[in-house]
Amino acid sequence: MSLFSVPISNLKGVGKKRAPLFQKIGALSVGALLRLYPRTYEDWNHRSTVSDAVPGTVCAIRATVSSIGSPVRVHGGMILIKGTAEDETGILNLTFFNNPYIPHLLIPDSTYIFYGKVTENFGHKEMASPAFLLEERCTGLRPIYPQTKGLTSRMIENAVREALRLLPETIKDPIPSPLRKEEGLCYLRFALENIHCPKDTESMETARRRLIFEELLVLQLGLLSMKSHTREKSKFCVKAEYTKEFWGLLPFSPTNAQKRAVEESIADLMSGNPMNRLIQGDVGSGKTVVAAALCHTMAKNKIQSALMVPTDILAHQHFASLSPLLGRCGIRVGLLTGSMKAKEKREIKSALLSGEIDVLIGTHAILTQDVQFQNLGLVITDEQHRFGVRQRAELAEKSKGTHVLVMSATPIPRTLALIIYGDLDLSVIDELPPGRQKIKTFWITGDKRRRAIGFLEKQVKLHRQCYVICPMIEDGSEKASVTGYAKKLKKELPSCRIGALHGRMKATEKDKIMEDFSAGNLDILVSTTVVEVGVDVPNATVMLIENAEQYGLSQLHQLRGRVGRGKFQSYCILISDAQNDNAQARMKAMCETQDGFEIADRDLKLRGPGDFFGDRQHGLPQLKIADINTDLAVLKRTQTIARSLLAEDPELKNEDHRGLCAEVRLLFQSLESS
Ligand code: ADP
Ligand code: MG
Repeated sequence: MSLFSVPISNLKGVGKKRAPLFQKIGALSVGALLRLYPRTYEDWNHRSTVSDAVPGTVCAIRATVSSIGSPVRVHGGMILIKGTAEDETGILNLTFFNNPYIPHLLIPDSTYIFYGKVTENFGHKEMASPAFLLEERCTGLRPIYPQTKGLTSRMIENAVREALRLLPETIKDPIPSPLRKEEGLCYLRFALENIHCPKDTESMETARRRLIFEELLVLQLGLLSMKSHTREKSKFCVKAEYTKEFWGLLPFSPTNAQKRAVEESIADLMSGNPMNRLIQGDVGSGKTVVAAALCHTMAKNKIQSALMVPTDILAHQHFASLSPLLGRCGIRVGLLTGSMKAKEKREIKSALLSGEIDVLIGTHAILTQDVQFQNLGLVITDEQHRFGVRQRAELAEKSKGTHVLVMSATPIPRTLALIIYGDLDLSVIDELPPGRQKIKTFWITGDKRRRAIGFLEKQVKLHRQCYVICPMIEDGSEKASVTGYAKKLKKELPSCRIGALHGRMKATEKDKIMEDFSAGNLDILVSTTVVEVGVDVPNATVMLIENAEQYGLSQLHQLRGRVGRGKFQSYCILISDAQNDNAQARMKAMCETQDGFEIADRDLKLRGPGDFFGDRQHGLPQLKIADINTDLAVLKRTQTIARSLLAEDPELKNEDHRGLCAEVRLLFQSLESS
């Protein structure tokens, strides 16, 4: 029987009462508890003597209890117990608060290891409320677990020890034996014991290495097997390309990078196999045009295409620009979003089925069961990173045998992208359309805000337009914050036409505002981050972000990407009084670089371990022990192994692979339920 099917409440010391607390930290079963690894360790082996313990630092001191006083009630009702312990070098004063059991726990003349922060009072060394263990019970490294309210690291440690005792003598190891040996990894049992109760640092490292390997292998297997695009023949082999004709429709000439991306994709479309390609291009590099070129060639070959985007605003915007462009050569473009009226949806759906629509633009509403195409041959997702794993899988399901193109504005570093989207071919648009000027970026503090607002006014006088991203108010509604801010701004700038946009608005209202802004009927758009993705108004030249510290680096870069899209000098103004180092580093990075790849790298470093995969935007499961910053080499290695495992056994059905298969399901299940 698997310990994953033993509920946590069955564990001695947990019971019905504490079970909900354990469930809260993800330990639903005894097995899951064992997979909850320590955050760090206290090193109880590295000992100081009383005399050389440095005040202000955390130390482990071996000392023998010489006296324990009686509990004294001090002011405020607290119970204070004082005591002393000593070693050959001196006396250590001990104080404990509100723990009446101390006299039972600390026995005079017995030797303990005391662990805690040392202070010095009038020449005497002291520890307040130290942790302690009888010398013979002390094993060296003590695990520290992520705590939640009502559940201390110690309670978790005790429960884990109990769970470890339940481990059967031989446990099934998900990593097949030959692979384990080849990679020089320890057994699962050893790993679990030594990640929780390490004998010494070396054993802990051995355990870590194995668990990191296992986690990343499982991740890779999950990601790779989700892409069911095997190398079957495509039903939609394109006979002829019409790129020249398409370039002729544009008011500008394509950049070389755009041409290359289109050529590479068209070669895929004509190859006879399904295309499976990722186009990475920084904000403003002109990815939409590439998508349009491919839809154009498909339509000319009488095959339908779908372009899927993450927001309503973006769907409308793409529809508004592509419909007239492609319409000029008789290609019919349709729009489908979740917020459309039932009747409109019905009409679009029947037109799709009858083949009256060549290109469908929409949000993930496209994925619903009842949307059927006559002959869908190409699916493009824009801003790919905004879609979760589930939606990506659904799409892969819907588009079996069709060509797939995903487009992303590099919120992830190049190395990582290759790993995450490992089986995709990659085209990089590494060139911006000509004539673009560097966006001047400034970081100012709140006291300079007036001047910034004055600057907006000047730009408006020059007939330019501005975005203002207003602060998110904790607990306040998005609507209240945006409308309140817009009102205030109207008072400050009575001569400007100001509009407001937020996520809670009806789709039709959003459209109206976006249209007004695009058409130049509004000078300033006050908004939340809904304009972050994809929005394109070339006449806008200022992006002003209030409380800029509230956003991550990639998000700031995306927001900045809304300006600098035309021929005018553009500006990004970050207002922030942030004091903390991380926020300041983000502001500095924004002022120093505009290169999306570099931003992505810096973002990854600033976010720190674990956080990257924790970010739901990437739609990847949360990792428990691996850190893609430091474990990149293992990530690559496991990718190679995952590929060969899947080549040999695509569904992981072999007896040897069952364990891995179960782990994959477990990891991705956590994603489904979040
Ligand atoms: P993104 O890559 O961020 O999606 P868009 O596709 O929205 O970028 O394009 C940004 C802007 O650049 C649009 O206004 C588009 O019309 C314009 N553009 C795209 N390609 C070119 C080009 N080759 N020359 C001039 N302008 C271009
Ligand atoms: Mg775009």
